[in-house]
Amino acid sequence: MKVVVIGGGIIGCLTACFLKQRGADVVVLERGKAGQEASWAGAGILCPIHPWLYPDSFTHLIDASLAMYPAFREQLEADTGMSIEWQKSGLLVPFFTDDKNNHKQAALDWSERFNWDVEELDSQQTLALEPTLSHQNTGSLHWPEVAQLRNPRLLQAVRVWMDKLGVELHEHAEVSSLTMQQDVLTGVQCADGACFTADQVLLASGSWSGELAEQLGFALPIKPVKGQIVLLKGKPGLMKSIVKHDDAYFVPRADGRVLVGASMEFVGFERGNTEQITEQLMASMQKIAPGLQDLEVEHQWMGFRPGSPDGLPYLGDAPNVKGLWVASGHYRTGVALAPITAEVMSRKILGKSVNMDCSDFSVNRAIPETSVLGFPKI
Ligand SMILES: Cc1cc2nc3c(=O)[nH]c(=O)nc-3n(C[C@H](O)[C@H](O)[C@H](O)COP(=O)(O)OP(=O)(O)OC[C@H]3O[C@@H](n4cnc5c(N)ncnc54)[C@H](O)[C@@H]3O)c2cc1C
Repeated sequence: MKVVVIGGGIIGCLTACFLKQRGADVVVLERGKAGQEASWAGAGILCPIHPWLYPDSFTHLIDASLAMYPAFREQLEADTGMSIEWQKSGLLVPFFTDDKNNHKQAALDWSERFNWDVEELDSQQTLALEPTLSHQNTGSLHWPEVAQLRNPRLLQAVRVWMDKLGVELHEHAEVSSLTMQQDVLTGVQCADGACFTADQVLLASGSWSGELAEQLGFALPIKPVKGQIVLLKGKPGLMKSIVKHDDAYFVPRADGRVLVGASMEFVGFERGNTEQITEQLMASMQKIAPGLQDLEVEHQWMGFRPGSPDGLPYLGDAPNVKGLWVASGHYRTGVALAPITAEVMSRKILGKSVNMDCSDFSVNRAIPETSVLGFPKI
């Protein structure tokens, strides 16, 4: 079977690898360079932000994906000889008296229900674990099992893996339309006129999937949600846990660098970092982790999360054309969800059974009008 994947982010590339391993002939078409958009820009936290706000089906999806990570990572690193810097750094959520939302009880209930190891720490224990945090903290929750990885390393390794597996990648190939013969899908056409034949086509073009779906004849309400990140140059061990708060998160890398992120902006495809957001992130750092304040800002970047109106991804068949599939809208958790997405979508596309109810992620699901997880208010 021949499959064309539209989009060379983590979702498209990894699904292509799984399809190839299952015997398909796979071509990935990428408009620019593979792995340079959201998948490169993300923080690599392998845990959703506030998972207790989502339906249970989302936790099942996340749990299934995280359960795949150890074996997936082992195989990827063994086959490529590259490290993706996966590490179990744990996640710490500190509380302050002026917090706008208090998630403590909901987080504890969710952790118990889904068997996620969590411990409650008082203010002193919080500081003992993370001395860079503010003395104003009133305690925290700590999930020791939460892991992270380094996005650019993941993308580089997956790129090498694609070559080894024999996945064909065409860069600078922007798909503009489907090709059909008497209502049967025969492939895709690119903006420069090049055509690629296919039995099945997977739309995995991240934040651009909504626009492309419209051109392909169906509605997919995916919109870009911009996130800006500031990178601080620290020393190894200065901060050990991922620290997350409503105002910002901090992700310490093995080499001592600390990512401070990330804005949630509904500004279309407006590229670049802004002084206003940098100042906001730095103000959050002063409040939550003042022990980082002397670190030099080394770099800044941004990316477009493929946002969906209810915060859930779209995983399934397109409603209008037989043989057209969608894996997109992963919003804030595309890296965490990449292995299960590749597993589920490669099985669906090849007509194999999927041992999971994916109805909450179907392309034509009803969207509640006021989802708290949807697009940010402007
Ligand atoms: C600041 C930030 C922080 C994040 N933090 C985390 C985190 O900690 N943990 C986590 O799990 N997730 C996180 N995410 C989310 C995660 O990065 C995304 O959900 C994920 O990368 C989406 O992957 P993707 O492959 O769908 O999209 P992308 O990586 O954007 O890839 C889509 C690709 O499709 C290509 N394309 C578009 N149109 C066409 C076309 N017409 N033809 C051909 N190619 C096309 C694009 O050029 C692009 O390369 C974060 C995202 C951002 C921006």
